[in-house]
Amino acid sequence: MQDLAVGVAHFREAVFPEKAELFAHLASHHTPHTLFISCSDARVVPELITGTEPGDLFVIRTAGNLVPAYTPETDGVAASIEYAVAALAVKDIVVCGHSACGAMTALAQGHDLSGAPAVAAWLRHADASRARTAVTGDVDALVRENVLAQLANLSTHPSVARALAEQKLTLRGWVFDIATGAVEVLPTAGSGLVS
Ligand SMILES: [Zn+2]
Repeated sequence: MQDLAVGVAHFREAVFPEKAELFAHLASHHTPHTLFISCSDARVVPELITGTEPGDLFVIRTAGNLVPAYTPETDGVAASIEYAVAALAVKDIVVCGHSACGAMTALAQGHDLSGAPAVAAWLRHADASRARTAVTGDVDALVRENVLAQLANLSTHPSVARALAEQKLTLRGWVFDIATGAVEVLPTAGSGLVS
């Protein structure tokens, strides 16, 4: 296993000094412009993909980049969304799915999740996306449908609905391809490849 302490030492010695001014500013300022919601998958690194600096992205990562629709009960995802939108006033929310997603593959191919009951329960938040792609069983199609479904779920959160109504917020759906590094922008607010 890679020694994380070695990485921390490298950060302190080689990376931090170059960004010392930025971190000094960030010590008392937290003004991210974007709420970035991605899968927990280790191969999806939001700041690397977007070329952003510390302080730019407010990040939520969940298995399958799922965003539960709003309910009166509180949960960590809802709290983070509300904080980003209502308190930090982010201008954009990106939901970023990705190729070879384990969660979407399990759903598309009907894997037996009886040994992982928490995962099985969590993935119920993708039921609508799965229903739309059940005929094909295509993982890539489910990844795309799932991003769009989570954007719809996002808009049920009162803070998001309010910001959308006031035209202070834009929702965007992306899919990151691990093999090529390409980012596909789904047709919610303009489509095509970012690069
Ligand atoms: Zn994933």
